[in-house]
Amino acid sequence: MNPAQIICVSKTFALSKLLPLIDYGHRHFGENKVQEAEAKWSEIKKNKKDIKLHMVGRLQTNKVKKAVKIFDFIHSVDSKKLADSLKKREIEINKKLSYFIQINLGNEVQKGGINKNEAKSFLDYCNGKLDINVIGLMAIPPFDENPEKYFNDISSLNSKLGLKHLSLGMSNDYNLASKYGSTFVRIGSAILGERKS
Ligand SMILES: *Cc1c(COP(=O)(O)O)cnc(C)c1O
Repeated sequence: MNPAQIICVSKTFALSKLLPLIDYGHRHFGENKVQEAEAKWSEIKKNKKDIKLHMVGRLQTNKVKKAVKIFDFIHSVDSKKLADSLKKREIEINKKLSYFIQINLGNEVQKGGINKNEAKSFLDYCNGKLDINVIGLMAIPPFDENPEKYFNDISSLNSKLGLKHLSLGMSNDYNLASKYGSTFVRIGSAILGERKS
């Protein structure tokens, strides 16, 4: 089994705190707000073109324009409206991103993501009709519950759909996530320390 790629989720942390990681050679970083990502990463990405930026938070369609410009991966595709808008913007600026479809495993109203029963038809829409590059599923299991059942669910759905990548696991559960075939773990506090906000 290949080890998962670590995305260092750097939301709320200043670039100065991240420079040692970049100098050391780490290249995958995650943010959850378009504006913060733009302010933090625009300049350095011009000089270090191999830095890959991942949008891990919920994305509103009115932020798509800026998001497609700054990000390389978007982990939170969860509606046709959003997918349509991403495609339109890709064409406008002639850039291809990689995407994850976010699945709402616990059917939690406050969280983004589509129902797992709709995953197949939504994937067909994105990779077929729309022709954007969806590479896998992403999920955040319900807080305060044992994630194992959810990891098992999404991992088997991911294989059933024939997807190569899986965005699963955060600071508290990345070990377990990698046992369930995660290829991108999203780790913030375990690398950078507690966030203030
Ligand atoms: C903040 C965040 C993370 C990282 O969380 P940690 O618990 O600090 O590792 C991972 N995924 C998403 C979607 C996040 O918003």
